[in-house]
Amino acid sequence: MTDLSRAKALLEDQLQELKARLEHIERDLAEPMDADSGERAVQMEDDESLEGQAAVIEQRITATQRALMRVEDGSYGECMNCGEEIAQGRLDARPESTLCVACKSEG
Ligand SMILES: [Zn+2]
Repeated sequence: MTDLSRAKALLEDQLQELKARLEHIERDLAEPMDADSGERAVQMEDDESLEGQAAVIEQRITATQRALMRVEDGSYGECMNCGEEIAQGRLDARPESTLCVACKSEG
C-alpha cells in the first residue's frame, strides 16, 4: 500500500470511529433528566463534560474530513503553513494533522 492509500484508510477508519463516538454521546445527552434533584445535579455536570467531549470530537471530524479532501487533491502530508512535509510519526499519531510540528508549536 502506498503512504497515501494507507493515510486514506486510516482517516476513513478514524472518521467512522469518531462519528460512532459522537452518536453515542448525543444519545446520552438526549436522555431525559432524572426527576430527583440530587441526581439531576450530577447529571447536569455529566452533560457539560459530554458536551465538551462532543465539541472536541466534532472538531476532529471536521479536521479528518478536511484531511481526506487533501488526500484527494494531493496536498495531504504537507504543512498548510510552511509547505514542508509533516513527519510520518506525527501523521501516524494524528492522521488529520495539517501543520508540521514546528508550525504547530508556534501556535
Ligand atoms: Zn510548517
